[in-house]
Amino acid sequence: MSKLNFIIMVLSAGILNIAAANQEIGTSSITKWQNDKKACFLLMFDDSWPSHYQVAVPELLERDIVATFYVNPGKGEYKSCIKHWEGTNAVWKQGMAYGNHTMTHQGVKDFEDAELEIGGCDDYILDIIPGKNPRLISWAQPGVGKGKWNISKEELNSILAKNNLINRPTFTDHGAVYHMQKSPQMLALADKAISSGGMEYLIIHGVERRKINWGYQDFWALNQDVYREVLDGLVERRDRGDLWITDHISYYKYDQERDNSQIQIISSNKDKIKLKITSSLDSQLYDQPLTIKTVVPENWQKCTVSQGSRISSNDVKNGVVQYDALPDESEIILTMQN
Ligand SMILES: [Zn+2]
Repeated sequence: MSKLNFIIMVLSAGILNIAAANQEIGTSSITKWQNDKKACFLLMFDDSWPSHYQVAVPELLERDIVATFYVNPGKGEYKSCIKHWEGTNAVWKQGMAYGNHTMTHQGVKDFEDAELEIGGCDDYILDIIPGKNPRLISWAQPGVGKGKWNISKEELNSILAKNNLINRPTFTDHGAVYHMQKSPQMLALADKAISSGGMEYLIIHGVERRKINWGYQDFWALNQDVYREVLDGLVERRDRGDLWITDHISYYKYDQERDNSQIQIISSNKDKIKLKITSSLDSQLYDQPLTIKTVVPENWQKCTVSQGSRISSNDVKNGVVQYDALPDESEIILTMQN
C-alpha cells in the first residue's frame, strides 16, 4: 500500500468514526438479519413424506413458521399424494417453500440422467409455483446407495449453476432422529446460532403420525412431542427478538445481499432524506428485502419510507427508523410524518 493510500484510509476511517459518534442524519446500516433479529434458523423437510402435510405443516402454520420442503415429484409418495403438493390446499399454497431434491431420489446414472433428475425437478417447481423464472431454488443432494451417484462434482456444479440452484448446508450433525433424538439437542443449535449471530438449521424426514393411523410411520419419523417442543422453543426465541425463522433461499439471499450492498446518502434536510442502495448482485435474482436502520433528525416521531411503489409508515425510536428496502438501485425517500 502506498503512503498516500494509507493516509487516505486513516483519514476516511476517522471521518466515519466522527459521523457515527455525531449520528449524522441519513447514516444507514443493514441489520445482520431481517427485522434486526440476532440469528437465523432454518427448518428443512426431506423426501416428500405424507406426514409433512399431515402433521408437520399444520403445526408450523399454528406457530406462523415457514420451512423448506425438499420434494421429489417423481417419487411414489409424492405422486400418490399429488393434490397435497400441488392442489388447492397444497403445502406451498400454505406459505411453505419447495426445494429441489431430484425427481425420483434414485440417484443419477450419468450426466444426461442428472440433467433430467435435477433440471426436471427444477422445471417442475418453477411450473407449479408461480413466480419469477429464472429464480433461485434451494438444492439438497439426496442420500443414495453406493454407485448410484455417477457424476463428478464439476458436472453437478454446472447443472446447479445452469438452474440457479443454491446448495443447502450439509446433513452432517443436523439430522433429526438420525443425529439428534431430544428437543434440547435440537434447540441447542438455535442457541448456538444466537450466541454467534449466525445461522443454524435442522433437517427432518418423517414426523410421527398419531390421529391418522396408516399402520406405519414415515422414514425416521420424529416423535410428535419432540417436534412440538422444538417448534415451541423456536417460537419463544423468535418472539423475544433472537431468531429469524425462514426458508433456505430467503436466508441465502439476505446473507448475500447484506454483504454485497452499499447505502449512499443522496441528500438530507430537516424533513426529507434520500438514499440509494446499490448491490453488486443481479437484482432480478436477489430480491429479498433488507432491513435498514437510518439516523433521522431528533424531532421526527414517525416517518414515511417510500421506494418505488412501496410505501410504509414507521415509528422512530431514539432518532433511528427501521424499515425494509430492496437493494435494486431505486431511491429510498424518508419523509417526516409528525
Ligand atoms: Zn432425501
